Amino acid sequence: MRVTALSGGVGGARFLRGLLAHIDRTPELAGSTVTVIGNTGDDITLFGLRVCPDIDTVLYTLGGGVHEAQGWGRSDETYAVHGELGALGVPPDWFSLGDKDFGTHIARSLWLGQGLSLSQVTARLAQRWGLPDRGVTLLPMTDTPVETHVVVDEGEGPRAVHFQEWWVRMRAAVPAERFVVAGMDRATPAPGVLDAIRTADVVLLPPSNPVVSIGIILGVPGVRDALRGTRAPVVGVSPLVSGRPVRGHADACLSAIGIPATSAAVATLYADFLDGWLVDDSDADVAMPDGVRTLARPLLMTDIPAAADIAGAALDLGRDLRGR
Ligand code: GDP
Ligand code: CA
Repeated sequence: MRVTALSGGVGGARFLRGLLAHIDRTPELAGSTVTVIGNTGDDITLFGLRVCPDIDTVLYTLGGGVHEAQGWGRSDETYAVHGELGALGVPPDWFSLGDKDFGTHIARSLWLGQGLSLSQVTARLAQRWGLPDRGVTLLPMTDTPVETHVVVDEGEGPRAVHFQEWWVRMRAAVPAERFVVAGMDRATPAPGVLDAIRTADVVLLPPSNPVVSIGIILGVPGVRDALRGTRAPVVGVSPLVSGRPVRGHADACLSAIGIPATSAAVATLYADFLDGWLVDDSDADVAMPDGVRTLARPLLMTDIPAAADIAGAALDLGRDLRGR
């Protein structure tokens, strides 16, 4: 089975880890491959280094090096470099990077500086984390540098800040007026991205943030058309449980684009290509858009087996839809 999945950071990575666990425990799925198309809209240059938060979260989570409670960053981290930068007064003071994490960003920046593309750099990092051995190919959505910016007004007129500043420093508490993806007009999909969608047996949308993770990937020219055109069923998993995002501020992002924070409304964002939609049991009786086969399941990824069950349900739904 060739599985292609779009992914943001923590929600995407935890789902993908469940997907690999489900493949491992299911004999019929032996030899399956998973191609992940990662969001790069969160990317930011900090301390002179290129940081790709969502790609790194996928790498660390699938590679077994993630800080489990936090959901991002490395386990058993130290913060010596961060402390020294603070003592030197080097901004920003609102974004902390651990020492091991710095290693990733130094290597990435070095290789980008030597002329490698982000895809090539990501492939090297994926090797470090053993992803190819598990049948996983991790592709950034684009090699073109893009950055999601957020237009906010803190009383002195509208201004754009980097998505990370809004999310981390402002904790998304200042209302977003809109999102602008700098560089997207010049962006092209990274090598392999469109093919992975067109040639997949099933395409999965993990419960990643529908606006600033999945929504950004969908904005890469060609991606949405490939999803509309692929013969593979496209199955999504709702990020909302009991009417709320499980973590983070997806509700604030949805409100900025005028969409209510409900699973039905999120499905409408994907309605032009979505075939199957997994919602939480709490949404079992809620009407979903016509033409989308909906299934209710417990959608809390409390541990790896729970995430594996969700991924398994998504694959099963995809298989049923393929048999149409
Ligand atoms: P980020 O880039 O780190 O913000 O991560 P993603 O965009 O990949 O995923 C964030 C989304 O994952 C949030 O909107 C959460 O609601 C969703 N999420 C996190 N944990 C769970 C979970 O256990 N179940 C479901 N259904 N969604 C989850
Ligand atoms: Ca993210």
